[in-house]
Amino acid sequence: MAALDPSRTVAELKELRELTGDENGAQRVAWTDTWERAREWLRGKVGETGAEETVDAAGNQWFTLRGGSDRAVLLGGHIDSVPNGGWLDGCLNVIAAVEVLRRIAAAGQPPVTVRLVNWADEEGARFGRSLFGSSAAAGSMADQDELRQRKDADGVALPDALKEHGVELDSALEARSELEGAVAYLELHIEQGPVLESMDLPLGVVLGTFGVERHQVTFRGQAAHAGSTPMDRRRDALAGAAKLELEIREIAKRTGEGAVCTMGGVVTKPGIVTSVVETADCLLDQRHLDAGKLASMLEEAKEASERFAAEEDVEVEWDRIWNIEPILFDEGLIELADESIREVAGTSHRLPSGPLHDAAEVARAGVPTVMLFVQSLRGLSQTKREDTKEGHLELSVQALDRLADKAIARVAS
Ligand SMILES: [Zn+2]
Repeated sequence: MAALDPSRTVAELKELRELTGDENGAQRVAWTDTWERAREWLRGKVGETGAEETVDAAGNQWFTLRGGSDRAVLLGGHIDSVPNGGWLDGCLNVIAAVEVLRRIAAAGQPPVTVRLVNWADEEGARFGRSLFGSSAAAGSMADQDELRQRKDADGVALPDALKEHGVELDSALEARSELEGAVAYLELHIEQGPVLESMDLPLGVVLGTFGVERHQVTFRGQAAHAGSTPMDRRRDALAGAAKLELEIREIAKRTGEGAVCTMGGVVTKPGIVTSVVETADCLLDQRHLDAGKLASMLEEAKEASERFAAEEDVEVEWDRIWNIEPILFDEGLIELADESIREVAGTSHRLPSGPLHDAAEVARAGVPTVMLFVQSLRGLSQTKREDTKEGHLELSVQALDRLADKAIARVAS
């Protein structure tokens, strides 16, 4: 019986970096030749386990180790990267899962089916549409009409690029059948944030992904000459925006439990040094794991904006740009993940995820899901400076293996 060899995962991560990266970082952008080369490389690695490869209607690459039952435990990640990306985002899980598959395969037929999925185009780097493959498999993809119109920077249409890789946009949703029989979905990812590093912990369990409220908030006042308009006669739209910017930080602080609020941009008009600001267009992003708390943060921000508008004698208007509800992971699997981390690292920590992940799509489709985070150094990601200590990478492979083992045992019983 082959033992798990986490150091092999680190070596294989480096091998993939060599094969598909350059001096600027990882170049495995989905629907490109480099991405195909990475998928072929993965095929070679999994081959020795005897797991059978299929590619579904959305381009997701599946490796299936048939078990005593059709009920399936899934291990998922994405081998695609952003341009000039890091060496760990997405592919850590895929390569760690290969090691777990090797260990399981060497022990004989597993009691349940175990599948590794390499999701197609998680990053959306070329066409601006993230979570392509997982949203197709989850059945939540509903923007095909819009996707048909999308073009990359060179003017290549999305459907044409997909076709070159054997995927028909119109039938991508047929990938839905892949989740039939799935009873657990496990994903290991780098944290991409500073929390675990600040606590000096290698690993954490992810409770779910944040709900997001994104709005354009427009303050409207009156343009007036900067020299001739007395201070008490101004209707300064930027004053309202500035007060709101400071208030959202207090709202996040008061709400707590990981709440974050960001004003990512303010565009002022006329935007010249000789005029009071007439309009200030603000971009506001609010996130929380609890739907009720998220709703009340939004309500508080709206009330505050109206108060500031009244104080500054300007008007304020809100337009929703986008929102998504929080997606909570499975409580039973969170317990198993906690146990697994404690076994390999002594201490575990539970935290929400700010970024979305394929796991959120799978959870949304009703498959019990959990994620493990491994510490990111300096909280950096999506840059060639993205890094994690090798010892922590090895611990993460062990934790994923324990978790897979526990999930299989629970499903089989
Ligand atoms: Zn990722």
